[in-house]
Amino acid sequence: MTNTVVVIGAGLAGWTTVREFRKRDSATPVTLITGDSGDFYAKPSLSNAFAQGRLPAQLISTPAAKMAETLGVTLVAHTRVQALDAATQTVVTRAGRIAFRDLVLATGAQPIRVPVEGDAADRVLSVNSLDDFAALHAQLQAGSGSDRPVLIMGAGLIGCEFANDLASAGFRVSVVDPGMRPLAALLPEAASAELRQALEALGVTFHFGVTVRSVDAAENAGSLQVLLSNGLLAHADCVLSAIGLRADTRLAKAAGLAVERGIVVNCQLQTSAAHIHALGDCAQYAHGVTLPYVMPIMTAARALAATLAGTPSDAVFALMPVSVKTPALPLVVAPPKPGTAGQWHAPETGLWQWLDEAGVQRGFVLSGSRTAQRMAESRRVVL
Ligand SMILES: Cc1cc2nc3c(=O)[nH]c(=O)nc-3n(C[C@H](O)[C@H](O)[C@H](O)COP(=O)(O)OP(=O)(O)OC[C@H]3O[C@@H](n4cnc5c(N)ncnc54)[C@H](O)[C@@H]3O)c2cc1C
Repeated sequence: MTNTVVVIGAGLAGWTTVREFRKRDSATPVTLITGDSGDFYAKPSLSNAFAQGRLPAQLISTPAAKMAETLGVTLVAHTRVQALDAATQTVVTRAGRIAFRDLVLATGAQPIRVPVEGDAADRVLSVNSLDDFAALHAQLQAGSGSDRPVLIMGAGLIGCEFANDLASAGFRVSVVDPGMRPLAALLPEAASAELRQALEALGVTFHFGVTVRSVDAAENAGSLQVLLSNGLLAHADCVLSAIGLRADTRLAKAAGLAVERGIVVNCQLQTSAAHIHALGDCAQYAHGVTLPYVMPIMTAARALAATLAGTPSDAVFALMPVSVKTPALPLVVAPPKPGTAGQWHAPETGLWQWLDEAGVQRGFVLSGSRTAQRMAESRRVVL
């Protein structure tokens, strides 16, 4: 019977779990298996790297080999886990089976893609990894001259961040969204309006209430012709799809683990199978929430590391406001829990509070210079 802890995934969730585990246990063997290189990078920097002129390689904070050496980990990189077997406590890779005492699923999320017609539909990019970012970077560096057109599908968090970043870097950015305003899922209308105005002032053009119908190769090499559902024909050197992410539950589902919007885990991050745990973008935490952000991953990794090291621990998620990386209009958002009845109130410029039916504050949005108040406002929120 092996004593090895096996981790699948070298994103923030996988590496942070290992780092936290090693603070408590330096002896137990750990094997980390990942489909990518395993290099450690901060994923949030992918959506503000262009304006800073940072190259993909410059975003790596610690190379994989250094991570493995420092943390005493057997790294199996560029290797996808093809299947897992909860009964025999093994995972299957092209190199054979690896047995585990405990398994950590940190497999992240997959970009949601909508069907798009046209002979260049396969040139639509999404960015959810350093490799994706390198592909975007290559496509945008391939042509010459500034002011090149880029079309972004989706005016959510990632779409708005890329719109701000690419516009600041000199690209001519248009954003297409079937909704009627940016960040509609997170912001009150007035805050969306402020953000829209700030991004438009930077040169971003929004097309709301429309979708992308087709993407075809244009006559001038490298350029794309994008047909929108309102009949408008746009030209772009690059089409970036940023319409959202979906938890990657494929391995867990195929192995018969409970899966809903993510891999279902309890307060101790255990899946429906003994000795198999999940966290990060692939997980659905207790009370049915997914929390695909950095801070919850840090909380979950610390709790899971303690559990794996012999001290069963719950992951207790505090309010974790998210900073939206749109320097044109800095925003901090702490949305209410899904399903919380209530409405937005705007007591002061740049501050919106979500009050429930009893007048209790359950969330907030701060914009512009008000973002400095995030701690004070966080303290007011009752979870
Ligand atoms: C552009 C962008 C900007 C963001 N900005 C912010 C921000 O400002 N603030 C914030 O809080 N959050 C932000 N986020 C979200 C945050 O970055 C993510 O929640 C977090 O990085 C997810 O980490 P993860 O380890 O769960 O998943 P991932 O980073 O996706 O890692 C998954 C890992 O699993 C591996 N894997 C998957 N399947 C297999 C398999 N079968 N076999 C082997 N390996 C496998 C992958 O290769 C990868 O190494 C941003 C996200 C994006 C995309």
